[in-house]
Amino acid sequence: MNILILGSGGREHTIAWKLNQSKKLSKLFVAPGNAGTAQIAKNIPIGVNDFQAIKEVVLAEQITMVIVGPEDPLVNGVHDFFLNDIDLKNIPVIGPQKAAATLEGSKDFAKEFMMRHNIPTAAYQSFTADTLADGQAFLENLKAPYVLKADGLAAGKGVLILQDLDEAKKELASMLVDSKFGDASTTVVIEEFLDGIELSVFVLTDGKNYKVLPTAKDYKRIGEGDTGLNTGGMGAISPVPFASEDFMNKIHTQVVKPTVEGLVKDNLPYKGFIFIGLIKVGDQPKVIEYNVRLGDPETEVVLPRIENDLVDVFTAVANQTLDTIDIKIDERTATTIMTVSGGYPEAYEKGKEITGLESVDGSIVFHAGTTLENGKVVTSGGRVMAVTSFGANFKDALAQSYKNVEKLHFDKMNYRKDLGFDL
Ligand code: AMP
Repeated sequence: MNILILGSGGREHTIAWKLNQSKKLSKLFVAPGNAGTAQIAKNIPIGVNDFQAIKEVVLAEQITMVIVGPEDPLVNGVHDFFLNDIDLKNIPVIGPQKAAATLEGSKDFAKEFMMRHNIPTAAYQSFTADTLADGQAFLENLKAPYVLKADGLAAGKGVLILQDLDEAKKELASMLVDSKFGDASTTVVIEEFLDGIELSVFVLTDGKNYKVLPTAKDYKRIGEGDTGLNTGGMGAISPVPFASEDFMNKIHTQVVKPTVEGLVKDNLPYKGFIFIGLIKVGDQPKVIEYNVRLGDPETEVVLPRIENDLVDVFTAVANQTLDTIDIKIDERTATTIMTVSGGYPEAYEKGKEITGLESVDGSIVFHAGTTLENGKVVTSGGRVMAVTSFGANFKDALAQSYKNVEKLHFDKMNYRKDLGFDL
């Protein structure tokens, strides 16, 4: 197999690392990749949304499978582009087609899907500029905090949680009338606030069969004690200690099964990962969002715990024979700690040399915002490297990750020192 991975983050480095362990892999390519993927694959400097350039690479390098990391190309229809192209249509793509990717591309579509298939979620209503007054009246009938969600993709920033009614009404107007999030906030979903603890469940489906993968919990805020601005993710732990067997059974019967069956009923072809964001309210799961790809940094703890040959697993997804695969999970806990550039998630500097990589011992470093410059590894993004470790429990695994994080260095490196504080 010659495999092409689209993307450039820690998620894609982890997928590349896992695929690289397979004897069935011949050549591995990552577009555009980072300094970590460059060590185990050939990086190709093209954008993930440049479908024509992707086609040229696929044909030139005789690619036999494409794995899509981020949501953008999926929502933009990269899978459909392959199916509609005479030269590409027989090359399997792991990632849903555009229609199903709308589960992430439109929160209103996702809420309607959940309602149609009786999947537990927060009560809601959607509004547009024409119905602003109705939206504001709707807010008056809710209790604080108020949850406003831009319908479309807004780079993880489109959800506002507000305590004050007047501020919520103003923000609603700003989203709908002043396009606060551009086209993404042409429609806004107003949702009941759910008070509980968050976790993510990952599912892999071939459109007929599905496998539930390990749970994970990520740490989104920049500051210790879950304070400060939201980030792409400062670290993750898998499995989630509070996801008991009983609770997982509820997630399975009330959420996962109806989701996959709903995709079939609605004729939404889906071969790929479903990342279900949940809040545990009391002992009930409620869905807050679907993502149509793996999460980052959750991938850095979920994939290392899967013991199967990932080429076999993806081949089964492509052939709709996932029912023949027995997914084997490492029972140990995996943790990852994300090192970030000082200043992130606000302004930060790039191009800082990273040292200490060779002294990391007993952990895996997955690169995110890194690049090679004159043979040196330098920073090129806000989230820079994730350090993943295994342990008998999350405390042991975290201790190992922290020990190795301390060996890494770049100017103004930052990371959270309190992961697991809430468990
Ligand atoms: P989403 O992009 O829909 O996952 O929302 C981003 C974040 O907002 C989530 O990770 C939650 O922390 C929070 N959130 C979203 N919806 C709700 C809700 N209905 N109640 C409470 N918090 C929410």
